[in-house]
Amino acid sequence: MRTNVYLTFDVEIWCGGWNSLDANFPRSFERYIYGSKYRDCCGLPLVLRLLNESKLRATFFVEPLFSARFGLKYLNIIVDMILNAGHDVELHIHPEWVDEASRPLIENCTTKRQHLSEYTYSEQCELIRISLDLLKNAGASNVTAFRAGSFAVNRDTYRALSFNRIFIDSSLNIEHPDSGKDMRGCYDFVRPSMIEDVFVLPMTVFKDGYGSLRPAQIGAAGYLELTQLLKRAQFANISEVVILSHNFEMMVQGRGIPDLVVERRFRRFCHYLELSQESCAVRTVREARAAEIGHPDENSLPEVGRMATTIRTLEQAFRRLLER
Ligand SMILES: [Zn+2]
Repeated sequence: MRTNVYLTFDVEIWCGGWNSLDANFPRSFERYIYGSKYRDCCGLPLVLRLLNESKLRATFFVEPLFSARFGLKYLNIIVDMILNAGHDVELHIHPEWVDEASRPLIENCTTKRQHLSEYTYSEQCELIRISLDLLKNAGASNVTAFRAGSFAVNRDTYRALSFNRIFIDSSLNIEHPDSGKDMRGCYDFVRPSMIEDVFVLPMTVFKDGYGSLRPAQIGAAGYLELTQLLKRAQFANISEVVILSHNFEMMVQGRGIPDLVVERRFRRFCHYLELSQESCAVRTVREARAAEIGHPDENSLPEVGRMATTIRTLEQAFRRLLER
């Protein structure tokens, strides 16, 4: 049986704080999307180029609420870039932007609420609707899936998604404390399941070589950990592996220069997937099928070897040296 692999990227822009947003935004956009100094060498264009070189299709969860402050043209650039490269644009929401919009988006928007789960059901319905409209107006009219910022969904989110006719979600993350706080113990955070009428594809988490939980994230897991995870997932009865990354993960945080360790890791991982089609099928999230629903009572996680984790730990030390 082949393991289905979903390469997912959360695409978002941060301005290094909430003061002087208007002054900081143009430079932040350049840095987060292109990677300022080395334009086209470490941001979203590099992600798209490496995926396409290995003929892999990916899912990009794009955060649109920033454009309620800075205008659609920036969101349009992101959406065009992804769609023109042949990948899927889906919805990502960081409600931190709600109180920064140039016009009020919802009635109660005077204080900053970081997580979607801090909003009422009707506010969540409204924020999802507004976000879908922004994406649609920026050229992404075929959005079918969702991931919450910081994975911070709650039970109401699934009703709100269903209300907005979004029937696929990839927000549950067993390792993230803000994910599904009111759903722990009642829902499967490891394997696909149905909540309301939404098909839920959880973020993949594994046990590293020292027993710690770790997300299957390009910037956080080593190449050997990622490839061992794919080989061993079936032993934990996991057939769907969701890999996470971001538009800015191949650059050094806050500096806009390439992170050569992570870039090499992602390059090798793409190559591995390209050559592993007999054992791994790379799919986009909207291609996931409800038939892949697992058994809610089985909560074992895939485990990787100690050597793989040790190598990643050494890589991290090397990265810190490079960043100096
Ligand atoms: Zn995010």
